[in-house]
Amino acid sequence: MEKILVKLPLIEWVALKYNLKPVLRFNSSAEEFIRYKKLCKKTNFNIKYFFYQGRYYIYISKSRNMAKKVYDCEKKYLNEQKKKFGNQKVLEDLDRKIGILLGYPECCVEFFVKNRRLSNEERIVLALEKSRQPIKFHMNNLHFNPFYSFYRILDYFCCSYGCKESIKKTKKLFNILKKENRNEAKKIKEILQLPVLFLNRFNTFLFVGKFKKGVLKYNKILTPFNFNLNLKKINTENLIKLIKLSKILKNSKSLQIKNGVIKVGKSTLKNFKFINWSQ
Ligand SMILES: [Zn+2]
Repeated sequence: MEKILVKLPLIEWVALKYNLKPVLRFNSSAEEFIRYKKLCKKTNFNIKYFFYQGRYYIYISKSRNMAKKVYDCEKKYLNEQKKKFGNQKVLEDLDRKIGILLGYPECCVEFFVKNRRLSNEERIVLALEKSRQPIKFHMNNLHFNPFYSFYRILDYFCCSYGCKESIKKTKKLFNILKKENRNEAKKIKEILQLPVLFLNRFNTFLFVGKFKKGVLKYNKILTPFNFNLNLKKINTENLIKLIKLSKILKNSKSLQIKNGVIKVGKSTLKNFKFINWSQ
């Protein structure tokens, strides 16, 4: 199966161009960094950056002041974090400030701050547990990991998948993307609306199929191997689990989901979440 390329920057550029995001923040390799710098020169966007542990930390905005504000906060954050006894209150306040500067809804910023000690996976599961399914495909942020990230419209941890403010924001961005680049928008939607089985960044499976009356029937699955996943970052134990489960799912062609219990054949998939998306 073909590798799926990272499409994230396109959505980000569109969000900035149409004022749906005040500042873009990401980190990149040296090679990508040169590309971003050139792009900023061409588009007259302001860029601030610093180099830290082999990556470029980049802040791009129409406003030089906004880019600098996020840059300053993140530098302070890293300095505080490096200390042996970093002040948690300072870190918490910075998290809140950064979230607001990046234009995230207040409810989601507070959710993040409250759960800042949880792992990314735990935050997602918490928000999923508060949400009724099916969830709008625009809200699919399960592929949050930087080295596994690909198509996504929602780029932060939402307070719930029914968060009204987030749904409004992501729908708006997707509609603009459709006008800017119809083909890309189509591809993004195709991926984001696939039913997902989710445990963590290494164990996320996408199904090309249909979910109806508690049964998911599929003819193809996409595993982390289909995406730009850096396999060196998976430990052997996880890798063996991933390969085993991929095989079972590929052979099965269907999943049963009843009252939150997920079954493949006769065995139950513990701790996994199944997510079905709507238009
Ligand atoms: Zn929210």
